[in-house]
Amino acid sequence: MKVVIDAAVCDGKGYCKRFAPEVFALDEWGYGEVLVDEVPPEYEANARAALEACPLQAIKAV
Ligand code: SF4
Repeated sequence: MKVVIDAAVCDGKGYCKRFAPEVFALDEWGYGEVLVDEVPPEYEANARAALEACPLQAIKAV
């Protein structure tokens, strides 16, 4: 599983990092960024929770 953040949509609410800190971080401006190329299987559930929690649907699984 891979995840991407649409930078044009993200407004930096930070839910992604809260739900899956192993997969997402916030950059120096407070916008979400993806830390890993491939989400390790043990973190997929957290990554999906983050995807569903993002209020702007800025996160996509690819
Ligand atoms: S939860 Fe969504 S809007 Fe908030 S920082 Fe993460 S990707 Fe951006």
